[in-house]
Amino acid sequence: MSQRIKIKALLESDETNIDVTVKGWVRTFRNNQFIALNDGSTNNNVQIVVDFENTDAALLKRITTGAALSVTGTVVPSLGKGQKIDIKAKEIEILGDSDPEKYPLQPKKHSLEFLREIAHLRFRTNTFGAVFRVRNSLSFAVHQFFQKRGFVYLHTPVITASDAEGAGEAFKVTNLDLDNLPRTDSGEIDYKQDFFGKATNLTVSGQLEGELGAMALSDIYTFGPTFRAENSNTTRHLAEFWMIEPEMAFYDLDDNMDLAEALLKYVIKYALDKNREDIEFLSQRLQDEDKQKPQNERSEMTLLEKLEFCLENDFVRLTYTEAIDILKDSTPNKKKKFQYLVEGWGTDLQSEHERYLVEKHFKKPVILTDYPKEIKAFYMRQNEPDANGRETVRAMDILFPGIGEIVGGSQREERLEKLEQRMDEMGIPKEELWWYLDTRRFGACPHAGFGLGFERLVLFVTGMGNIRDVIPFPRFPKNAEF
Ligand code: ATP
Ligand code: MN
Repeated sequence: MSQRIKIKALLESDETNIDVTVKGWVRTFRNNQFIALNDGSTNNNVQIVVDFENTDAALLKRITTGAALSVTGTVVPSLGKGQKIDIKAKEIEILGDSDPEKYPLQPKKHSLEFLREIAHLRFRTNTFGAVFRVRNSLSFAVHQFFQKRGFVYLHTPVITASDAEGAGEAFKVTNLDLDNLPRTDSGEIDYKQDFFGKATNLTVSGQLEGELGAMALSDIYTFGPTFRAENSNTTRHLAEFWMIEPEMAFYDLDDNMDLAEALLKYVIKYALDKNREDIEFLSQRLQDEDKQKPQNERSEMTLLEKLEFCLENDFVRLTYTEAIDILKDSTPNKKKKFQYLVEGWGTDLQSEHERYLVEKHFKKPVILTDYPKEIKAFYMRQNEPDANGRETVRAMDILFPGIGEIVGGSQREERLEKLEQRMDEMGIPKEELWWYLDTRRFGACPHAGFGLGFERLVLFVTGMGNIRDVIPFPRFPKNAEF
């Protein structure tokens, strides 16, 4: 008995006239003769040729789409088109039947919306096989990038008592009896009786704890799940997503941007090298989809071209103020085509503005820096007011074509006085963040960091259109199935 070989390895070797065993799931069975078998190691199926005249009819009937098989046979040069080799079956064992009347994944094109409803089975399609192999590679590449540079992978807590962004989008964590909540004398919920003795929530960001690590280990990164109860039913937001958050001591904003750009290029290059076939498949898929659209809505570049382009070009860097000037003067603004017209300085950019800059104006990834202090978090380093008295912070957002914001980061405010002053202005309780402020009391130094939304990265590299299709089991408003 030969040992099982994965289909990817089998198709890559050109050895014939050897006996092998493959195991996988039936994609199709044609003419009682040709089985297309897939084991998830590659999008390519291996073709099994069945000698149906000498095979038990009862067994043939059980070779149905979705069934799990173990097949032993001889590798022979293929007579058919599209594959180099076939396996001439000597022995077929049904490991698991699949009732064709009930199996939801028929060998035809299903919509992504339908596949989301059967997310437990969608891994078995070409598209999702490719997406999740690419996701796996990207995740490995993230670790490799940081490990090569001596960063320490720091596991920050999932349950915290702080809401890092102060945005009030956190999911509460409690073991209090919700039907019988303990109350204080004044009628408020008595969190002293809760599991942790205080109100807690799922983390919205590991940054604040990450900074504590950087203040001793120099360079750290987190890579873990993050939760936001934001009710944004968009194609770019999830309630549970994975974030990569490096924090670096002795970095200024330029160092921070250099690192983020290098990281993005490294992981994209890694996936292109490692998952060429999958990305080519996804690229073709998009091109086919594009053909259904009117000419003016089709993309100028294929997915592959877009990824190569991103590797070959420096990201454009400009300040928020410069971006506002460009946007004010832009055709869609003058012709009132933007839903939100850009009139003054100081408001946050909408995604239509971000996309205009990236997709129309520069046609390259863009890093925007030095945003107005009023629209950014308390921990960002404050710039000196400019000649017009405008107050900005050393923030940077990286904007990608088709995605919008993929990275948000900043140089952190290391000056205790400035930081405390900003917390007071924004009503952030200093007592609760005493530990965070301690890093500014004992050996503070310039430092910086950023957050990269992992699923937005996977969206970009796979060319998928909806963030719910790049995480195995998406969590979003009214959905926590599986
Ligand atoms: P956005 O404006 O797009 O909501 P944000 O300003 O809230 O983003 P940050 O708080 O800076 O984002 O988070 C860092 C990164 O995490 C973002 O650049 C993005 O890539 C990712 N991210 C943020 N919110 C989500 C979400 N709900 N789902 C998936 N990724 C997210
Ligand atoms: Mn947000």
